[in-house]
Amino acid sequence: METFADHYESMRRTILKYMPGADMPLIDKAVRYAQAQHEGQKRKDGSPYIIHPLAVAEIVAEMGLDTDAILGALLHDCIEDTSTTHDEIAKLFGPVVAELVEGVTKLTRVEYSTLEEQQMENLRKMFMAMSKDIRVVLIKIADRLHNTRTMQFQTPAKQISKSMETMDIYAPLAHRLGMQKIKWELEDTSLKYLDPQGYQEIMDYLNAHETEANAFMKSIQSKITTRLSSVGIHGSIYGRIKHVYSIYRKMKDQNKTMDELYDLYAFRVIVDTIPDCYNVLGHIHDLFNLVPGRFKDYISTPKPNMYQSLHTTVIGTQGIPFEVQIRTWEMHQTAEYGIAAHWKYKQGGVGSGDEKSFEWVRRLLESQQDTDAEDYVHSLKIDMFDDEVFVFTPRGNVINLPAGSTPIDFAYAIHSGVGNAMVGAKVNNRIANFDTVLHNGDIVEILTAKTAKGPSRDWLAICKSNQARTKIKQWFKREKRDENIVHGKASFEGEMRRNNFNPAIVNDSELQPVLLKKLSFDCLDDMYAAIGYGGLTAVKAVGRIRDELVKYTRGVQNPTARGKENANPLRTNPDGPDAGKNRHSVNGVIVEDIDSCMIKFAKCCTPVPGDPIVGFITKGFGVSVHRADCPNAKNRSDPRQAARWVPVHWAQEEDQPFTTTLELDCITRSGLLLDVATVMTTARVRVKELTGRDLPGGHSTFTVSFDVKDVAELNAIQSKLLNIRDVIGARRGQS
Ligand code: MN
Repeated sequence: METFADHYESMRRTILKYMPGADMPLIDKAVRYAQAQHEGQKRKDGSPYIIHPLAVAEIVAEMGLDTDAILGALLHDCIEDTSTTHDEIAKLFGPVVAELVEGVTKLTRVEYSTLEEQQMENLRKMFMAMSKDIRVVLIKIADRLHNTRTMQFQTPAKQISKSMETMDIYAPLAHRLGMQKIKWELEDTSLKYLDPQGYQEIMDYLNAHETEANAFMKSIQSKITTRLSSVGIHGSIYGRIKHVYSIYRKMKDQNKTMDELYDLYAFRVIVDTIPDCYNVLGHIHDLFNLVPGRFKDYISTPKPNMYQSLHTTVIGTQGIPFEVQIRTWEMHQTAEYGIAAHWKYKQGGVGSGDEKSFEWVRRLLESQQDTDAEDYVHSLKIDMFDDEVFVFTPRGNVINLPAGSTPIDFAYAIHSGVGNAMVGAKVNNRIANFDTVLHNGDIVEILTAKTAKGPSRDWLAICKSNQARTKIKQWFKREKRDENIVHGKASFEGEMRRNNFNPAIVNDSELQPVLLKKLSFDCLDDMYAAIGYGGLTAVKAVGRIRDELVKYTRGVQNPTARGKENANPLRTNPDGPDAGKNRHSVNGVIVEDIDSCMIKFAKCCTPVPGDPIVGFITKGFGVSVHRADCPNAKNRSDPRQAARWVPVHWAQEEDQPFTTTLELDCITRSGLLLDVATVMTTARVRVKELTGRDLPGGHSTFTVSFDVKDVAELNAIQSKLLNIRDVIGARRGQS
């Protein structure tokens, strides 16, 4: 059985190795505290619980994290599994450590389920925590790594569910954080539980071929060593067989047996300087035959997780292809421990260069907005596993995109405004189609135009990155076409009137096609929308068709007759500045400055004719009419909304009934409902809905919806209802 002393010593050694001046008394205090708190608790294998936090702290130390993180690791299960509180840890070890433990506890409490949506929520929380303090996630990964290592003591069901979680969440996280070594271990161990047979097959094969594999690796290794020493390059060469899970994935993906697998072997040459990396590359290509198309320079264009190396695949005389990775010691440290290797936490301050490494976190967080749950999980999985492509802006900035990305992806990676205004693209200075697949090193330039119509729905099928897809979808969501049409139409008609043209003439069946052609739009709504979002000004639009309008007005109409016709009988304020201009009522309401648009009555206040009303230009549903005293109309002066409130009037002589709602406060008694119904019937109004519910204290409330023709009728009914015994109040409905 594992003992406390072994683990403690091992942890201590690991800490002192990279932090000789570590505050060991403080660390010991945390060890003793955790030990006391977990006293009596046992791990599944029967060993004392404290061994787990010690082991996690050791992994955190291997990552090279700071003292606070080590303390956090030692205490990470205290809030969850013991009586310890956040405040107590804060008092004993400081607020930072308490926050770390709290953060880990939150991640621990996150319940994973096979439901994708559930996972999404959890992952999101996780990323939130992560973007707040990356150490929380690093401790959590260390925690998971130790639990994975000791999984043999769990029940089979738990082994599987935990392994799935590890595969779905922790291994991709470790990958994204650049922690290759931990990622591999997490994957291999999880595979052992998820597909024991598949795992065993690979292990059996590797064991059976161990001798020849070792001989092969040795021969390659010595070949490279000899060459490097002959040219005076100081380098360390390691050969290895790729990790089990990567072999497993290759077999599944390419549907191949182990024998057919292309590259099983990887060699690593670690040198002192970057120039040496390129020198070694030259020698490798000289010693062996290059496999075309496999060279990758992650030194000049590092992966987003900060990984740097040169990769090349070559074939030796034995005919066995193998990969060679060339890097410096510093790059090696980053490759093994990723973000943790770069971890230089500044006490109390925000890390300086660290922000950049969190860019992907931010990108993920950004792209998850406005996306539904399933999409998000999908996007996360893709972003985590897909290979990437690096392309350049014309100014030489490197943009990193998922493999298979197109100029559309590129445009949206620059800025959603660039994507939305995109009219064309150049790849390596040549005009390219929107669906051109980008390759590493391409120089991509996006051509934009102010008059661009915005993304097309086809782009959703073309683009590869979730970022682009999300932004395009957002655009369609936000597009506000209907709103733009309403706005655009209003300013177009205003401009028409300013020029003494009757706006209605554009509806003439002969004139309209002429105008549209002149304006290069397919229909009036398209033009209104363009004016609405600012792609075209109303002044310009009217200017462009002025000649046609003049010709039409002269040719077709006698101006005096026309003026008379324009005096709309429905207008309600003949003395107003708009008197005499052509206006239509819709549903009995006239919207100032807008000739015709969709009208609906707000459900919150159910206005009826006679009520003072105001209109609100909604996103996509025309104008919504509220009572002027509706709480939802109170914010009319809010500058962000002010432009959307428009004056509206009731048209005269409107026979159409209006549905309204009254809420009755009553003292509960049997037969009350019948009394209410009787009043409504004798008033000859059509009841649409009548519901009641009891309130505590012998009160009840009724909601009655019915049609009236105006506010006078409504008032009459309201007073009749109030006359009913036990009805103590009747309010206009305001939900
Ligand atoms: Mn734990």
